[in-house]
Amino acid sequence: MATTPATTPATHPGPARDSHAVRVRGLRKSYGDKQAVDGIDLDIERGEVFALLGPNGAGKTTTVEILEGYRHRDGGEVDVLGADPASAGRSWRSRIGIVLQTSNENAELTVEEMVRHFALYYPGSRDPDEVIAAVGLEEKRRARMRALSGGQRRRLDVALGIVGNPELLFLDEPTTGFDPQARRDFWDLVRSLRSDGTTILLTTHYLDEAEQLADRVAVIASGRIVALDTPERLGGRMAHRARVRWEEDGAVREESTDAPTRFVVDLAGRFDGEVPGLQVVRPSLEDVYLSLIGDVEDAAAELARSTR
Ligand code: ATP
Repeated sequence: MATTPATTPATHPGPARDSHAVRVRGLRKSYGDKQAVDGIDLDIERGEVFALLGPNGAGKTTTVEILEGYRHRDGGEVDVLGADPASAGRSWRSRIGIVLQTSNENAELTVEEMVRHFALYYPGSRDPDEVIAAVGLEEKRRARMRALSGGQRRRLDVALGIVGNPELLFLDEPTTGFDPQARRDFWDLVRSLRSDGTTILLTTHYLDEAEQLADRVAVIASGRIVALDTPERLGGRMAHRARVRWEEDGAVREESTDAPTRFVVDLAGRFDGEVPGLQVVRPSLEDVYLSLIGDVEDAAAELARSTR
């Protein structure tokens, strides 16, 4: 994907109008006796990139599809761009963007035909040529959909999701199947959409993607939010002790400390300058995420044992 920004001038109102794009209180949804969403509260600010993380079956898709108006909820309050998705009409729908998987129905249409066709559905759509460039499909604009690779097809899905110039964009595992360069280019595209004022709700299994893109991250497990914060602070990440590693006498040494700067200064004094193999490590987002998820799974296993 090219790094050309998605260029149509920003038209989205900033936080001044109504600072929330999404407000959810006590959301519940069950399938039979499976409680898929178990009382979720969520506020997403306008202009924010918000990531939902969670293991398979955690309730992410159910939550997102309720916000999109594609699934009914059993309980709770939901407000998306000032309306209840369960009853909102066509003009509301034209203000949101959803990246769906394109079907084979239109396999004979070209990339350009598809994007131009979708643009007609929206009153304030982006320039289709700019959108094709923004997702890096310029060279494939005359290719038929059936001739696209999996990753190119996914870029076209993204183009169709953003051509309507949405105020709120839902991106559900958008980079699955992308090669590393295409992922980087897609991240640039998300950043440019954000700088145009688009609010983005991203679900992903890639923690580096959440760390790169999200202003805030919610971790969802067993239908509940178990942590919500910036990627840097999630799960008390910055409060964890730092581990300082270095090499000495042919071995790797490690020390856990609350004051890594002071420790490194002392170490540098001892070595009279450069400390061999120096590293200062705090828990990664992945470390914190896995421990949050692990805690929930341990609690669920404990509950199952006690009710047996
Ligand atoms: P993944 O990361 O695998 O996409 P998810 O977090 O999106 O998972 P959901 O698809 O929301 O999870 O599913 C939450 C729970 O609800 C799972 O246990 C799933 O099996 C169940 N579920 C989802 N859709 C249905 C359905 N239509 N009928 C019955 N159960 C469902």
